[in-house]
Amino acid sequence: MSASEENKVLGTVHPQLFIAGEWRDAEGGRTLGVEDPSTGANLIDVADASVADGKAALDAAVAAQDEWAATPPRDRGEILRRAYEIITERTDDLALLMTLEMGKPIKESKSEIAYASEFFRWFAEEAVRIAGRYSTAPNGATRLLTLKQPVGPCLMITPWNFPMAMGTRKIGPAIAAGCTMVVKPASLTPLSMLALADILAEAGLPKGVLNVVTTTSTGEVMEPLIRDPRLRKLTFTGSTEVGRSLIEQSAEGILRVSMELGGNAPFLVFDDADIDKAVEGAMLAKMRNIGEACTAANRFIVHESVAEEFGTRFADKMAALSIGRGTEDGVEVGPLVEAKQRDKVAELVDDAVAKGARALTGGEALAGDGYFYPPTVLTQVPDTARLRTEEIFGPVAPIFTFTDEDEALRMANDTEYGLVAYAFTQDYARAIRVYEALDTGMVGINQGIVSNPAAPFGGMKSSGFGREGGTEGIEEYLETKYVGLAF
Ligand code: NAP
Repeated sequence: MSASEENKVLGTVHPQLFIAGEWRDAEGGRTLGVEDPSTGANLIDVADASVADGKAALDAAVAAQDEWAATPPRDRGEILRRAYEIITERTDDLALLMTLEMGKPIKESKSEIAYASEFFRWFAEEAVRIAGRYSTAPNGATRLLTLKQPVGPCLMITPWNFPMAMGTRKIGPAIAAGCTMVVKPASLTPLSMLALADILAEAGLPKGVLNVVTTTSTGEVMEPLIRDPRLRKLTFTGSTEVGRSLIEQSAEGILRVSMELGGNAPFLVFDDADIDKAVEGAMLAKMRNIGEACTAANRFIVHESVAEEFGTRFADKMAALSIGRGTEDGVEVGPLVEAKQRDKVAELVDDAVAKGARALTGGEALAGDGYFYPPTVLTQVPDTARLRTEEIFGPVAPIFTFTDEDEALRMANDTEYGLVAYAFTQDYARAIRVYEALDTGMVGINQGIVSNPAAPFGGMKSSGFGREGGTEGIEEYLETKYVGLAF
C-alpha cells in the first residue's frame, strides 16, 4: 500500500465529534493523537471531547428519541440495509483505515468489515419482526396483551480490538429497535467509528439518532452520562475490570445493562480428535486478530497421548507465519496495539518460562519499531503460570495436558471467565457431554471460530451478561409492556 493511498484514506475521515448530525470540534479545540502501532508514528489528530461535549451528545440523543421510536420499522430497517451496502462497496478503504489504526493485516480488517456489516443486514431484517403476544388469561376472564417498545437513549462503549464490529453489534439492533445512542469508541482506534457515522448519515439516519464522542478523559466524560436520569441503557464491551465499575455506576439510574467482558477460553483436544482439524482450529482460535480477541483460545488443554504431536504441528504452523506491517502484501501477523499490550504479553511469557515452561517457537518480543510479538507456543506450562488465569490478548498459546474427560472439564471451567470454549472430538456423545458441562456462553465443537451475526454472542460469570446478534440481540434494546384487558 503506498503512502499516498494511506493519506487519501486518512483524508476521508472527519476528525471531529458527531453530534446531532453535525461534525464539530471538541470544546476548546482539544485533540487526541491516533498512532500507527506498526511504527509508533502519529496518523491523525481527532477531537478530544470534554464533559460538556459528552452532555451535548446525550442531549441530542434524548431530543431525537421520540420521533425515532415512531419511525416505521421498515424505514429503520432500510437505513441499516443501505448502510450495509455502502460498507460493502467501500470495504477496501475501510479495511485500510482499520489496519492503519489497529495494526491487523488488511485481510483480517476485510473480514472484520464483512462481519461488522452483516450485523446491519441481520438487524435490517429483524426491525420488521418486533412482535408482542395476545392470549387469554387462564381463568378466561381477561385478555393478556404484550407489546415491545424501544428502551430509550443508550450509551455504547466499545474496545479497540474490533473497531467496527463491536460498534455495529450494538448500533444495528438499537437502530432496528428504535433507540437513539451515544457511541464512545476506544481512544486508540476511533477512526473506523467516525467513518461509520458518516456512512450511517449517508444512508439516511436522522440527525441525533447516532452521536459519536471520542475522548481521552474517558471516565470523566462517561460517568455523568451513565448517572444522567435520561439515559436508559448502557452497553459495554471491554475489560472485566472497567465493566465492573460501570455496573456500579449504572445502579444509580437502574439502567438496562449489557456487558461483553474479558475471556480465558479453553481449547480442548481429546485423544479421539482429528488432529489436522484441531491444528487448523487452533490457528483460528489463537491467531484471529493477532490473539487480541476476547474469544481467543487462552489455554490449550490437550490429552497427554496427543499433546506432543499437536504441539509440534501447531508450533510449525505458528513459526511459518509472516510478521510485518498489516498494510504489506502477504503479512499474516501485525503488531500488537500498543507498547503496554506488547509488554504485558512479554511479561506473561517470561513468567511462564521462569516457572518451567518451554517455548516451542517464539517467546521474545521483536526489537525495532512497532509493537511486534512473534507467534509463540509454550509446553510444560505449570499451573502456577499467570497466563493460566489471566487473559493473554496476544499470539501466545500455552499447552496444558490432561488424562481423562472429567479432568479436562474441571480444568476448562477453572476460571472466573465464561465466554467461549472450543472442543475437538470425533465422538458426538462426548461432544454433547462436553458442551453441556462447559460454563461458557458459547461453545465451538470442531471449529475454532464461533462469531456469527445470526447467533447470540455473549458470556457467563466474569465475562458478562447480555447477548449480541441472533434473535436475542434486539431484545437487549426492547422493553416488554403488558396490558391487562378486561371486558
Ligand atoms: P478497556 O480498557 O476496558 O476499554 C474498553 C472501552 O472502555 C474503551 O472505549 C475505553 O476507553 C473505555 N473505558 C476505559 N475506562 C473507562 C471508564 N472508567 N469509564 C468508561 N469507559 C471506560 O478494554 P480494552 O483494552 O479496550 O479491550 C480489551 C478487553 O475487551 C479485553 O478484556 C477483551 O476480552 C474485551 N472484549 C470483550 C468482548 C466480548 O464481546 N466479550 C469483545 C471484545 C473485547 P479508552 O479507550 O478511552 O480507554
